[in-house]
Amino acid sequence: MGRKFWFIVIVAVLISSSYFFWNGNQSSTQVAATLPASNKPETASTFPAPGKTLYRMSLYLDINTRTLHGTTILTTNNTCGQVLSELWFTIYPDAFRNSAATPAPASAYYAGFEPAGIEFEEILVNYKPVDYIKEGVSLQLIPAEEILPGQDIAVEMKWKARIPRLSYRYGYKDGVFMLGHFYPVLNVYDDRGWRISYDSDFGDPFCLNCADYVVRLNIPEAYSMVSTGSVVETIAEDNGRQFITVIAENVRDFAIVVSHQYQALKETEQKYTVSIHAPDQAHASLDSMLQETIDILDFFSCTWGSYPYPEFKVVFVPMQGFHGMEYSGIIFLSKELLRPGADQQQTRFLLAHEAAHQWWYGLVGNDQVREPWLDEGLANWGAYKYLNQQDQTSKGSKAGARINLARELKDMHSRDDYYSTAYTGGESFWWGLEKELGEEKVKQVLRRYLANYRFQIATTGDLLQVIQQEAHRDMQEYFNSWFNYHNE
Ligand SMILES: [Zn+2]
Repeated sequence: MGRKFWFIVIVAVLISSSYFFWNGNQSSTQVAATLPASNKPETASTFPAPGKTLYRMSLYLDINTRTLHGTTILTTNNTCGQVLSELWFTIYPDAFRNSAATPAPASAYYAGFEPAGIEFEEILVNYKPVDYIKEGVSLQLIPAEEILPGQDIAVEMKWKARIPRLSYRYGYKDGVFMLGHFYPVLNVYDDRGWRISYDSDFGDPFCLNCADYVVRLNIPEAYSMVSTGSVVETIAEDNGRQFITVIAENVRDFAIVVSHQYQALKETEQKYTVSIHAPDQAHASLDSMLQETIDILDFFSCTWGSYPYPEFKVVFVPMQGFHGMEYSGIIFLSKELLRPGADQQQTRFLLAHEAAHQWWYGLVGNDQVREPWLDEGLANWGAYKYLNQQDQTSKGSKAGARINLARELKDMHSRDDYYSTAYTGGESFWWGLEKELGEEKVKQVLRRYLANYRFQIATTGDLLQVIQQEAHRDMQEYFNSWFNYHNE
């Protein structure tokens, strides 16, 4: 029982009641009354703590104006052990506000540049209106009263996000709304302060904690949707639109694709359902991709630990600038990969790389701004491990030259610099470690790392400590050859 029980209770209450749309203070008190008391002992100083953080969002997609009207009710608890006088959120849609700052390549603006962003009508913290400051992709809230340690927090927001005509991880093209990082998300606060996201042309400049989600999406009936989590209810309205309710437990983010004329292929394994979503006219072999996806999840589940969610979805979208993009329980792949003559090996590699992120990024989180090598290195190396096992070969870049992995995204000068550090360098660290310790021991390292930091955020220090424990010999020399904190 425990969390799961309360989660189901909350969902049941939300679905059976009509006040889901937030209407000011009156409904706020009702919503607060449905929350379980936070009766779990404080174990860590993580904030916002997974298991105590719930996002309830109501979303209405206007396809004509390409506007997402949202209300968010976020409830959590001040678990950081300190008084909080401000709350910082990431508002990624604001990265697309002007042509000079947008992370998307110019070519992705197929209809020319058009500004996008998120506007707030009202923001309440603990039922009182707050002042807020927007800066880059950040939103700073200054509550009227400080938030004491252990105090419950309810943040209510009414917002409106413009979706640009843009083939990117946030944008619209060819009847497809790609909604990655579309909503305001509370940043992590820990002993190093607020982990602020920033606007970067490359990489994933985020650091997120896991949370629970109940999302109610209103879209035209002619459209379908795929998202993080599981659909628990679909209600057709008499005006040609539909309400879809989705729940997701312990996920690091929540992404949605709303699409027109898409096909889906689905298969249920013992523990989870895998599905592939692609445009109707795609004639690539989705069947074999579905089988491959199942094989990939099985391989990683057996090697590292079980896939944690009831569903895994692969969606092909008109996205440029990325071949693939990972979110919890769902990945976006560029639909370019479906064109006739596309490199099948590359597609398989990308599928495996993005799926590996379900473990490294999703299950075990990391600060992708400060330590991007942690998830990217493991995703790349994991993808090669899968392909090598499947094809009975030993391809892959194997142990390359030693480079300094102790570099932040901000200090990387270019996309190439980022790839050669976080991806190639990160991958080489693991090939090198296998050479040092052997395949079995590295497997043990990752199993321990996963068990210790499941649904949390791990640092390089945490990982090296696990390696040291499992190695049963002094690893300092190996570590020193990869982490040079002073020379950059
Ligand atoms: Zn990746």
